[in-house]
Amino acid sequence: MEDCLFCKFVSGEIAPDVVYQDDLVLAFRDINPQAPTHVLIVPKQHTKDASTVEPSDGPALAAITNAARTIAAQEGLPGGYRLVANVGPDAGQSVFHLHVHMLGGRSLAWPPG
Ligand code: AMP
Ligand code: ZN
Repeated sequence: MEDCLFCKFVSGEIAPDVVYQDDLVLAFRDINPQAPTHVLIVPKQHTKDASTVEPSDGPALAAITNAARTIAAQEGLPGGYRLVANVGPDAGQSVFHLHVHMLGGRSLAWPPG
């Protein structure tokens, strides 16, 4: 996708602070971290958001949760972490390439607001 920031990260045109990648996903640090660990995990294949995911994207979704488990071990998050996918304006989505926020390293309030 032209003009998609996260596609440019995947292609290597722009280099984010990568913490993990495999064949299906790329994970990098959020530029505006909201917790000691704030990583965005994205499928390498472009899809707009969680509302446009198809059954054929199942392996990529599993790769996202697998990446989170690996990153938690790398970062040292024995207390756990939160995975969040914002969809649309009410949720505050600002980048339109599916990404799962991984937040950890502090106690996280619920509900999130
Ligand atoms: P969302 O609001 O759920 O769409 O999340 C988009 C996230 O992308 C925000 O948390 C931003 O801080 C993050 N972000 C925007 N630009 C960059 C960038 N160049 N590198 C890393 N993270 C970014
Ligand atoms: Zn994209």
